[in-house]
Amino acid sequence: NGCRKASLFGKCQYLLTVCSHIYFPTCSPKYPSCLFFQYNTQLGPPYHILVDTNFINFSIKAKLDIVQSMMDCLYAKCIPCITDCVMAEIEKLGMKYRVALRIAKDPRFERLPCTHKGTYADDCLVQRVTQHKCYILATVDRDLKRRVRKIPGVPIMYISNHRFNIERMPDDYGAPRF
Ligand SMILES: [Zn+2]
Repeated sequence: NGCRKASLFGKCQYLLTVCSHIYFPTCSPKYPSCLFFQYNTQLGPPYHILVDTNFINFSIKAKLDIVQSMMDCLYAKCIPCITDCVMAEIEKLGMKYRVALRIAKDPRFERLPCTHKGTYADDCLVQRVTQHKCYILATVDRDLKRRVRKIPGVPIMYISNHRFNIERMPDDYGAPRF
């Protein structure tokens, strides 16, 4: 099934990383040293999970409490994070999305200020997970998932079967697989 494939893919990626360090120690600038180990040592817990606008909207539609569902998925403390760009995106959506806005402003959510140019939320999130390997990205957006899968060491949280699920999570974290 998909999960097994994702886990096998993660293992291959790990082996590639290790091999490239052993055989080409100077040729792998794309792989930060924290990824040398079988798991990304900066991930957590507590897990810092970057959420995008659609993830919040889909959670509302599925009647899932974001913080609780994240913990049900990872069996650990989770801190949802909202960047300025995502917050601006939700604010722009107006009255129809006031529930999403209220959730985004929940004190359990951590606000991440943006200093970069532009306000396009997808670019903002991709940039952050590329630069800092301490995040999980929560999204239901196909294009964004595709972009993030190309970045080593970034697990993706998504919604399926009325629960949150995770892909590309290293086995060492003991995250449940459905
Ligand atoms: Zn931003």
